[in-house]
Amino acid sequence: METPEQLDAHAKALLAGLPAGEPLKASQRMAIPQQAMPSQAPDVRIHNNHEVALGYTEAQARVEAQRCLQCPTKPCVAGCPVAIDIPAFIHAIAEGRDGDAIGIIKSTSLLPSVCGRVCPQERQCMLGCTVGKIKKDVGQAVAIGRLERYVADKERERGTAELPAIAPATGKKVAVIGSGPASLAFASDARRAGHAVTIFEALQKPGGVLMYGIPEFRLPKAIVQKEVDTLRAMGVEIRTDFIIGRSRPLKSLFEKDGFDAAFIGSGAGLPRFMGIPGENLVGVFSANEYLTRANLMRAYDTEHADTPYYHARRVAVLGGGNVAMDAARTALRLGAESVQLFYRRTESEMPARAEEIEHAKEEGVAFHLLQNPVRILGDESDIVCGMEVLRYELGEPDASGRRSPVPIQGSEFTVDVDCVVVAIGNSSNPLLPSTTPELAVNKRGNIIVDENHETSMRNVYAGGDIVLGAATVILAMGEGRAAAAAMNARLAGKA
Ligand code: FAD
Ligand code: SF4
Ligand code: SF4
Repeated sequence: METPEQLDAHAKALLAGLPAGEPLKASQRMAIPQQAMPSQAPDVRIHNNHEVALGYTEAQARVEAQRCLQCPTKPCVAGCPVAIDIPAFIHAIAEGRDGDAIGIIKSTSLLPSVCGRVCPQERQCMLGCTVGKIKKDVGQAVAIGRLERYVADKERERGTAELPAIAPATGKKVAVIGSGPASLAFASDARRAGHAVTIFEALQKPGGVLMYGIPEFRLPKAIVQKEVDTLRAMGVEIRTDFIIGRSRPLKSLFEKDGFDAAFIGSGAGLPRFMGIPGENLVGVFSANEYLTRANLMRAYDTEHADTPYYHARRVAVLGGGNVAMDAARTALRLGAESVQLFYRRTESEMPARAEEIEHAKEEGVAFHLLQNPVRILGDESDIVCGMEVLRYELGEPDASGRRSPVPIQGSEFTVDVDCVVVAIGNSSNPLLPSTTPELAVNKRGNIIVDENHETSMRNVYAGGDIVLGAATVILAMGEGRAAAAAMNARLAGKA
């Protein structure tokens, strides 16, 4: 693995070798290797909680931008849920116009330094990229997210971001429930339209999963905090430790508090469990609880934070998504001697981002594929001491298109572990629907909305994971923006 200094030196040498003052031919662009992301070395990073990926240097960004073929049909844009004009922003980077590049991105996306880090790019913008297609490897496509992160970080470091213009006050009051990416995007657009906006957040810090779920080593909390600070500076009021449905019923926001409209972005924070014997033993955690202790309550910072965490030597993590990778890598940083990940399909069916799987392996997480526990074992004090595990093979594709795992009868074996983290997915947060019978939900508990993101209650909009089920940051952000546009039109008397 090359050091950040070596990667930068290579990029500078490549730049110096490019013909000056004339556009490159497609063949010259195709010959440029994808610039690797400078990262902390695995043996160093598992002992700290700092960000693993360090971001492109200027030279690397300029070189990577030269790889873009500026395809007239823009297949990359079709893969981006918010349709960022990708060739335009990359062209600006190639010409050294970073300020223009961030302007192009921000005209569509509100959280580029977040999405540049956590978007599942290889399934979105990179998937259609011509360079990746020609090379027959999506991993070799133009590194769009890394370039997005580069310009967003540069803007933050320089402090050149300006507060968005706010339209004259409309006299309308808008409530936002939850403060994840859907709500942050909605609140920003509603405030820009001149409404008085109040966010109500159940937890002690705003940011939703960006703050309590995705770990610091993948998404530094200072970046999320900066977005929250920007909203506050725009005049958005944020009330934390405030649960709508408990501290205040949804309807009373309209009837007693005089709000004119509301947006529900309450997310998918209800952890799913396996439903197997032993899940109530001491030492079994949902990934949500495990990660919230570490992220929101900084359990990893044993010198300064009082948050108790479970000291475990041998941790088992169940699942194959981003949440499972985050939990496994967090366990290593909390001092586990071994972390074993159990997933009942193979690696190609894993929903986690390729980069997270790679990083987890580099850090020493042991992958047990086609294996899943059928029972968690406890000692005489009901403390986890092991798991009984069954082996699987792949059968026919199921409704999701993935080949379904078929248990191999009689293949049970036991493993010794003293902590089990269940990371097999989350369901919609049920609190609001259950305390607001007027809100229509589907059988999975997701709030039903129409094409304008309006719920069964007039002037109550919803978006993000509470509507989609557990999805992605960029989809949540896009939904928040679309809902705000519809609500702004309604409050302006245009819909
Ligand atoms: P959330 O971010 O879930 O925020 C909802 C907020 O609403 C929470 O803060 C909650 O406390 C609050 N709330 C709930 N009910 C109430 C109430 N009644 N009153 C007041 N407040 C309430 N996506 C990616 O794109 N890339 C990734 O790498 C990625 N990694 C992930 C890792 C983890 C560990 C997790 C859990 C998710 C990950 N995701 C990832 C998914 C992504 O984070 C979510 O899709 C996204 O955050 C959803 O945004 P949201 O605004 O709908 O809700
Ligand atoms: Fe790609 Fe996500 Fe950026 Fe869109 S927002 S261009 S999908 S990284
Ligand atoms: Fe550039 Fe790839 Fe988009 Fe073509 S598809 S414009 S090469 S990023």
